Amino acid sequence: MTAIQGVVSEEGADRKMPPGVIVGGPVVDAKLRESYALLGIIYAGSVAAVIWTIMQGIGWAEIAVFVGMFGLTMFGMGAGMHRLLVHRSFRCGPVVRAFFCAIATMAVQGSILKWVAHHRRHHLYTDKPGDAHSPYYDGVGNRHVSFVKGMLHAQGGWVFDHVATDGEYYAKDILADPIAMFFVRTRWVWYGMSAVFIPGAIGYAVGGFHTMMGCVLFSGLLRVYLSITATSLVNSVCHSDGRYGYRRFELNDGTTNELVISFLTLGEGLHNNHHRFPRDAYISHAWYEFDMTGLIILGLGKLGLVHDVFDGSGRASTVATGETSRAGS
Ligand SMILES: [Zn+2]
Ligand SMILES: [Zn+2]
Repeated sequence: MTAIQGVVSEEGADRKMPPGVIVGGPVVDAKLRESYALLGIIYAGSVAAVIWTIMQGIGWAEIAVFVGMFGLTMFGMGAGMHRLLVHRSFRCGPVVRAFFCAIATMAVQGSILKWVAHHRRHHLYTDKPGDAHSPYYDGVGNRHVSFVKGMLHAQGGWVFDHVATDGEYYAKDILADPIAMFFVRTRWVWYGMSAVFIPGAIGYAVGGFHTMMGCVLFSGLLRVYLSITATSLVNSVCHSDGRYGYRRFELNDGTTNELVISFLTLGEGLHNNHHRFPRDAYISHAWYEFDMTGLIILGLGKLGLVHDVFDGSGRASTVATGETSRAGS
């Protein structure tokens, strides 16, 4: 019996939703309006980007801005949104915290308040009724009718379901944090900076109007779409119960480590490791498990820019003393 079959038989038909899950009503309506507005712009922009790329072509400037912004915002999601704001894997001063909040919001994956609340609910009810985005249960705790439908729900369908997560229940610390709440209130400014204004300004400075258009479409809007897609693979493929990737730890959920997704997400695809040690700042447990985000956090710790870097599994300390590189050579 796989881990997930075990979960299903334990849970049976228990569809009672846990606290902090809002089904229907004005909060859900507001969530849906924002999801449709934001993703509508990103989808339309991505289609325009593909047409522009075919018709007009792109050059080194567009590719360089794409890679730079992809790396910055993926690190913002992994280090800022996920490891700092959700799991408190490390601490930092107000200026560095504000920087992490900015690049986390620039990942264009919803506000800090929503992301943190959803993700804490995901950890509390992983692949059980109550999970925000599981391949096994929908938003109201019904078993998905097929594996494919479950994967589509986890990959992105959950953003459009009629369920929301109560920030008052799951993210009181964020609500009480003036720095994080500043970025929650001004989130559309940071979405615009990421998807339009920063790529556009660099493009204009480098090559004028034509390069500006290519950078906004290809390096801005299409890049945001592709980075959201890569991140969402963690919710779907990295919860596939071992169908894709491998399980280092036998947990009562469907989590797996998947190395291609780890590469694309700078480490987040080591998701079985992460569910075993959720608070660790560095989540690689072998030389071939590439956790770029964790390595940068360890580096920032050495520079004194972050501190109290959490290391429950003892892996980060072996990297700090060089044992991992010796073991891998
Ligand atoms: Zn997960
Ligand atoms: Zn997590």
